[in-house]
Amino acid sequence: MGLTIFYWIVLLSTFVGIYYLGAKTDLKLWARVIIALVAGAILGFIFGDLAASSKWIGDLFVRFIRMLVVPLIFTSLVAGVVSMGDPKRLGSIGIKTIALYMLTTLFAIIIGLVLGTLFKPGMGIELTGVDPFTMGSSSMSVADRLFGIVPTNPISSLAKGDVLPIIFFSILLGIGIILGGEKTKALGDVFSAAAEAVLKIAHMVMQMAPYGVLSLIAWVAGTMGLSALQNLFVLTVILYVGCLVHIIFVYGGLIRFIARLPLSNFFKGILDAQAVAYSTSSSSATLPVTLQCVQDNLGVKKTVASSVLPLGATINMDGTALYLGIVALFSAQIFGVELTFADYLLIAMTATLTSIGTAGIPSASLFLLATVLSVIGISDAQTALIVGFVLPFDRILDMARTVVNISGDATVSVLVAKSEGELNETEYRNESVI
Ligand code: ASP
Repeated sequence: MGLTIFYWIVLLSTFVGIYYLGAKTDLKLWARVIIALVAGAILGFIFGDLAASSKWIGDLFVRFIRMLVVPLIFTSLVAGVVSMGDPKRLGSIGIKTIALYMLTTLFAIIIGLVLGTLFKPGMGIELTGVDPFTMGSSSMSVADRLFGIVPTNPISSLAKGDVLPIIFFSILLGIGIILGGEKTKALGDVFSAAAEAVLKIAHMVMQMAPYGVLSLIAWVAGTMGLSALQNLFVLTVILYVGCLVHIIFVYGGLIRFIARLPLSNFFKGILDAQAVAYSTSSSSATLPVTLQCVQDNLGVKKTVASSVLPLGATINMDGTALYLGIVALFSAQIFGVELTFADYLLIAMTATLTSIGTAGIPSASLFLLATVLSVIGISDAQTALIVGFVLPFDRILDMARTVVNISGDATVSVLVAKSEGELNETEYRNESVI
């Protein structure tokens, strides 16, 4: 009892310390999250099982995140689809851009799935608290699951949180809004405003992150010990490797062999944007720098850059898709879910669509993890455990996926510019402007 009180005193003092660091020194949220991560791990090691007594703080944080899942998918996806159909953005540039965005996302998810299958980051973890065999939808046949994508009642799908029917309906609604032209434009605006509002709530929820992270990592370190952290470490390494492979081979390959341009200029040219993406974890916040790098260093004309890049910062999230694929396999491995080929396809499809609906802000995909997990039959309770487990490391993972996200936008802008005759190759090849 005395020890529990002591643990709580230490914990609350750490909370207060982190709060004051933010309030007094303007220390950025991400830096506070990393401090919380380290502090939580230390507390967990020192206090062991006692750290479980504060897990509820992390659980509360996870509940806030889960609260936003359905509103976020619904509003962001409708708004995302509507933004693709902006008449200004359509035409040959628009079609090439969207096709390339989809293609690169597909490669990203394949890389994620291959790495997750080869290295099995989730093997050997025992997450306590849930019956591992409560999987529901996985036992349904593939035909039933595919059939189930079309909701008989979209409102009931929203209420039940059935992700695939929600995605399906959101996309259709977005298309309907585009087709309605002027008459439905106001509805499109309502959805983008609603998505904006939900993101604001997400932003508020993220202010709780340091405390949630600290409590969760203390619980992981205290009750599961070093081996669990090792698994998270492996997950992080795999994600970083996947991101590197995607940047070097997919983007590098496209620039070198499709656009037939030298690689070194490309990578040097976008370095600033990558650095900003890595430190802000937000493709939207990085957009001005990406625009500047692509126009000034890579010679992409404004007509292309100004339409391709903002769209990319909204819908093209290759790093996010790669991450979602790896975490889906990670979770399946933890809960012993046997995945069939159809499951892999379902993960790929859902991760691609989810990445379209992911906003370019820090930790956005954390809110949408549940989407991908639910399609392979991972229950709500299990998803909450996974989110709680991965969350403390999310910032580090987010930094890498955001770099991939913006590098993908830059790659596509160069390819589209080249094919449209809107690339100033002299500027691209000129090392001195970089
Ligand atoms: N932070 C990422 C971005 O802004 C989105 C994500 O959470 O995956 O691109």
